[in-house]
Amino acid sequence: MLGAEESEAAVAVIRSGQLVQGLYVERFEQAMAAFLGLPGAVAVSSGTVALSLALTALGTSPGDRIVMPSYVCSALWLAAVRLGAEPCLVDVEPDTYTLDPRGVAQALSNRTRAIIVPHPFGLPADLTRLRALGVPLVEDCAQTLGSTQDGMAVGQVGALTICSFYATKLLCTGEGGMVLSKDSRLLDHVRGLREYDERPRLDRDTFNYKMTDLQAAIGLCQVERLPWFLERRQHIARYYSAHLGAVGVPVPLIPADRTHVFYRYIVRMERPLQDLITRLEQRGIDCRRPVYQPLHRYIELGHFPESDRAWETALSIPIYPALRDVDVERIVSVFCEECR
Ligand SMILES: *Cc1c(COP(=O)(O)O)cnc(C)c1O
Repeated sequence: MLGAEESEAAVAVIRSGQLVQGLYVERFEQAMAAFLGLPGAVAVSSGTVALSLALTALGTSPGDRIVMPSYVCSALWLAAVRLGAEPCLVDVEPDTYTLDPRGVAQALSNRTRAIIVPHPFGLPADLTRLRALGVPLVEDCAQTLGSTQDGMAVGQVGALTICSFYATKLLCTGEGGMVLSKDSRLLDHVRGLREYDERPRLDRDTFNYKMTDLQAAIGLCQVERLPWFLERRQHIARYYSAHLGAVGVPVPLIPADRTHVFYRYIVRMERPLQDLITRLEQRGIDCRRPVYQPLHRYIELGHFPESDRAWETALSIPIYPALRDVDVERIVSVFCEECR
């Protein structure tokens, strides 16, 4: 949700004459680090880049294995394979779509370098059990900021944490990403990779991964409004759950040890989804599968029954801070009509 603040901030940067990475990027890094309760951050050009740099900082090299869920966007797979690492897919838990810690435990080997832990749709994964496995975690907070599991805030548990500021994410800079960590050595490593110029030697891991001040100025406004964005999402979710739950739609489960910020509002429809999606679209309501396709379906690999079931049944209903109450009410009534 962009408004007058973002327009004014963008104009101020343009008037300053300096658009590239500078003071605004630094301030945006500090603001995000403060929001997540971490000492430092490095802004980069996208969430996918952030993932890949986080893996590089952990020393990922060809032949290493990176554990990740199958039911996730392809950015995770790409971040690992571009380093020559081997993605090791694991199924998700049935009710929360989060990475299954038992499956992860079975997938570990002495070649496992890291586990990428997405917090899908606004809900934290089971950080307690994943942390206990003793392998470095990269927390993927692209869809979840400000949630907790067993009192732990997302972003604080992993060796590194990444965010995405793509247009549709919780906060938006157009394109953009960030790597955060408690470990200043890991962060310094990442910071050193994001630009190529003025180096003592040529390092093939460096590249141009920088964010611009124009994006960061927009991001700064967005962080300020983030608490309100999250509250508004939770408010809409409560309305959906009350009204859809009342007519028997299986609404999202929030485990007792977690909070949910509802990046997506997912209902589980035990019926062919495409027909419902088309009918809702014809009435102006854009509902989608929240994951385009599980990774194991692209690479025809293994047996991931919960990822398959999620792909077949999980439907995302519009939820974003700019939705007005009248929009939310209409979505509920149309959805109930089309589900009959
Ligand atoms: C969007 C997203 C990414 C990638 O971020 P980009 O900024 O689009 O590169 C990675 N992981 C998850 C879970 C995402 O939702």
